[in-house]
Amino acid sequence: MRVLLATRNEKKLAELDRILATAGLDVPLVGLAAVPSYVELPETGLTFAENALGKAREGAAHSGLATVADDSGLAVDALHGMPGVFSARWAGRQGDDLANLELVLAQVADVPDEHRGAAFVCAAALVLPDGREWTVHGEMRGTLVRAPRGTHGFGYDPIFVADGHDRTNAELLPAEKDAISHRGKAFRRLAAILANLG
Ligand code: IMP
Repeated sequence: MRVLLATRNEKKLAELDRILATAGLDVPLVGLAAVPSYVELPETGLTFAENALGKAREGAAHSGLATVADDSGLAVDALHGMPGVFSARWAGRQGDDLANLELVLAQVADVPDEHRGAAFVCAAALVLPDGREWTVHGEMRGTLVRAPRGTHGFGYDPIFVADGHDRTNAELLPAEKDAISHRGKAFRRLAAILANLG
């Protein structure tokens, strides 16, 4: 069985590949670049799960392959769960990581340390061509620091310290982050489902 990960992000592809391999699963994984292209609908859902399922359904329908898709973001307690599904375009422009992170820091500048809790959240969906569907979640709780630190990772990683750690996500090595991350948890749950499909 070949599995499509409905993404053009090579890092995500490598991440899921690593996680499936660590889970002992030898499933050939391909990205959107490896299947005939189709018009991808915009992510308009109000929840991570809606967006992940929409992308997985779309991929399975167009490719005929078992398809995995994910959607993730940062939920800040003091912002009532925002940026949430708007994480990638919080400052107005899709994928401007630095502007997004600076806007969040400015928004919580006056929030005292004890109320700076946040979580990275991921929903991942698996849709089979026969119509069977699964959605799983993963979460990583932590706190927001006041100034960015570290060079690894992406997005909001430089301002987030996971519970039980003192380094920001951007100061963790990729394998250290995988072990505790929202996507790591969700992808490992999907790996268990894929393993049971045989
Ligand atoms: P997507 O799931 O690839 O659409 O990611 C949505 C956005 O959430 C990203 O652009 C980042 O801003 C943020 N995000 C999701 N996961 C992470 C992470 O592991 N670290 C930092 N930012 C993240």
